[in-house]
Amino acid sequence: MDSLLPWHAAAWQEFVDQRERLPHAMLFHGQAGTGKVGFARYLGRSLLCQTPAPAGFPCGQCASCAWIAAGNHPDFMLIRPEAVQLAEGSAAEEESAESAGSGGARDAREAGDAVASEGEGARTRRAPSKEIRIEQIRALGGALNLGSHAGGRRVAVLYPADAMNVYTANALLKMLEEPPPRTVFLLVTDAPDRLLPTIVSRCRRVALGTPSAETALAWLRAQGVLHPEAGLAEYGGAPFAVLRAAKAEADTEPARAALFGVLAKPDVGASLAAAERLAKTDAGLVVGWIQRWMHDCLGYNLARRIRYYPSQTDTIARLAASLDVMRCMAYSRTLVAENRVVDHPLNGRLFVENLLLGYCRAMQRG
Ligand SMILES: [Zn+2]
Repeated sequence: MDSLLPWHAAAWQEFVDQRERLPHAMLFHGQAGTGKVGFARYLGRSLLCQTPAPAGFPCGQCASCAWIAAGNHPDFMLIRPEAVQLAEGSAAEEESAESAGSGGARDAREAGDAVASEGEGARTRRAPSKEIRIEQIRALGGALNLGSHAGGRRVAVLYPADAMNVYTANALLKMLEEPPPRTVFLLVTDAPDRLLPTIVSRCRRVALGTPSAETALAWLRAQGVLHPEAGLAEYGGAPFAVLRAAKAEADTEPARAALFGVLAKPDVGASLAAAERLAKTDAGLVVGWIQRWMHDCLGYNLARRIRYYPSQTDTIARLAASLDVMRCMAYSRTLVAENRVVDHPLNGRLFVENLLLGYCRAMQRG
C-alpha cells in the first residue's frame, strides 16, 4: 500500500491547502523511479476517504479506504497498461505472502484471470500490452457516464500517461475537455514532452521532486537495502530504481552462489550440474557475473586489484596465482561476444554449459 514519501511532503501540503478547489485533471511529472505513481494513488485515496486526517492523509479505517485496500472501490479507477498491472500483481502477491494481507492477493488473481481469459479468446498468445489501450479509455468513459457509486467523488489514476498512442490520447482528451461531474483525473508521467500538448494543457502540471541523497539513503536503508550508496549513484538518485534492482539481486543470489561455487573450483562435472541449475536464470546475468569474475581474476593477476567481488578475494587470489593470462583474455573476449547474442538462448542449459566448459578450459593449469 502506498504511503506518503518524505520528499513529497511539500507537494502534499500544497494539495492539502487546495483540497476543496482542486482542478479536475492533474499531471504529475518528475524523474523516473521516484515514487510518483504512489503519490497519485495516495492522493486518490485521500480524495475518496470519508474521514481524512487533518493533514489530508487517508484514514485507512472508513468503508472507502477499506474498499480501496481490497482493490474493489467502484469509484477508484486505475488505468495502466496490462504489463504494468501484471507486474504490480506479482509484486503484490509477494508482499501479501510476506505480510498476509489480502488486497495484493486479490489484485494478483484479477491480473491472472485477465491473462487466462485473453489466452482463451485469442488464437495466438500475445505479450501483455505495454500501452494503455483505447478500449480501456472507452471503458473508463462508460463507467464515468454511469455516475458514481456513492454519489461522491470519482478518481481515475492513469499511468504512465505517455504510454498512449494518438488515438487513445484523443479519446482521453475528449473526457478531459468535457469532464464528468465530481471526477478527478490524476495522470503520471516521466516524460511530459511525449504527451499530446492538448492533454498537457488540460491538466494542472505538478512537478514531483527527487529526494536529496541523504533522504534517499535513509529511506532505502529503512527498506532494508544494506548498501544503497553505489546503487543510488548508478541510478541517478532514483530510490525506487535502486530498490527494484536490490530486490532483483536478492532474488538471484542463490543462482549466483551456485555459479561462484563452480568458478571457484573449475570442474567439468560440477559445470554440467550447475548448468542444469542455472538453465532458467537470465542468461545476460550469468554472462555478466562470469565477465566480472574474469575481470577480477585478471586484475588480481596483473595488478593485485579486485573491482567487483572483494568478498571473494581469497578464492580469486588463489585462481589468479596460476592462471594463463592469454587464455583467460581469449575467454573473456568470447564472453563479450556471447553477451551480444544473449537475449534468448534457445536452450538455457546448453548455453550455460558452454560458458562453464569454456571457463574450465581457460582455467586449466599449465
Ligand atoms: Zn478513510
